[in-house]
Amino acid sequence: MKHRTGTDRTTTSKWAKQTQMVRAGSMRSNFDEMSEALFLTSGFAYENAEEAEARFDGRAEGFTYSRQSNPTVAMFEERMAILEGAEVGRATGTGMAAMTASLLAGLKAGDHVVGARALFGSCRWLMDELLPRYGIETTVVDGRDLSAWKAAVRPGTKAFFLESPANPTLEMIDLKAVADIAHNAGAILVVDNVFATPVLQRPMELGADIVCYSTTKHIDGQGRCLGGIILCDKKFDEDHLYPYYRHTGCAMAPFNAWVMLKGLETMGLRVHAMCDGAELVAAAMAEKLDDVRHPALASFAQRELALSQMDRGGTMVVCELPGGREQAFRFLNALEIIDISNNLGDSRSIATHPWSTTHKALSEDQRLELGITPGLIRLSIGLEDPSDLVADILAALTKAGT
Ligand SMILES: *Cc1c(COP(=O)(O)O)cnc(C)c1O
Repeated sequence: MKHRTGTDRTTTSKWAKQTQMVRAGSMRSNFDEMSEALFLTSGFAYENAEEAEARFDGRAEGFTYSRQSNPTVAMFEERMAILEGAEVGRATGTGMAAMTASLLAGLKAGDHVVGARALFGSCRWLMDELLPRYGIETTVVDGRDLSAWKAAVRPGTKAFFLESPANPTLEMIDLKAVADIAHNAGAILVVDNVFATPVLQRPMELGADIVCYSTTKHIDGQGRCLGGIILCDKKFDEDHLYPYYRHTGCAMAPFNAWVMLKGLETMGLRVHAMCDGAELVAAAMAEKLDDVRHPALASFAQRELALSQMDRGGTMVVCELPGGREQAFRFLNALEIIDISNNLGDSRSIATHPWSTTHKALSEDQRLELGITPGLIRLSIGLEDPSDLVADILAALTKAGT
């Protein structure tokens, strides 16, 4: 690598977020390319045996094997670390690989984790099924209830895990208050920040110790590649995460990292345009339906908290159709522009019925406890002209008989 202009942290950490998203972490090769190079290589060669030994010892800089680290992946990790204000980033093959690693890397049998009950379906499975299977006990609480977090703490509590806003209900959790409770208990706070995006919410400034993303969502932002990333401090990385990461093999592929780097360049613009669209869509829907949720709406229950920790209300709109599953399906089937799918953060708007898809793995009682009802629809607002989206939604609501 020739120029390391994007990796001098004293410089890049002072840049504005938008500049960081375009340039931080860039390393140029000897060919002086403008766009980041894609290093599709599994391994790296050494000048001599001594050099190989030195790189393995960590005495010499350089790469050894792409399960550990790769230049394209390293550029993405550095760009994300700078953007999040973290010391270290470790990119993974999927968002779920990141969530799993952030928990399993530092925990062992006998430890205890407290999680918000409103989690992405697979994250909830980690809490309910995977961790207990390895002797890590878990308690899930209503994340909005600060006294429930406090009451769940026990001597072995090592980590708190939550997402805010929660998928799919947009429930908000007071990040600073929960971070304080975790730290008083000697536990770390792990935040899944997918819904808020790094553009709108910075959990580390509010006390989070680890922030994870599914980069599949707004970071790629164009529905192409899966990916994840864990952002943390050097100590957690050295003591726990890096050994887990390199030995279990959850690394991100270089091609996907390259796509994510390109995604980051436009993420700020995309997320703000999607927020504009979401605000317009939510306002138009609220004229037709009683229960429409978006933090920018005056009727949003946790509006003050949402806007105190997020710069804007976000790219997701949630609504409840009074006619339940039947009406929800009629609405989905009547949409002409917006696709029925289960991704989010894509440039194409997406409508999801969490009851029958993303959260189907939960029991009916669990779904209802979380407010995931048969009439609930989650909309991920994309980059189409908002007036087309509003027209599509209003026509489909009429066809569905609202
Ligand atoms: C999508 C998502 C995940 C999982 O990410 P994948 O890339 O699909 O593995 C985790 N948490 C939240 C909030 C998500 O939206």
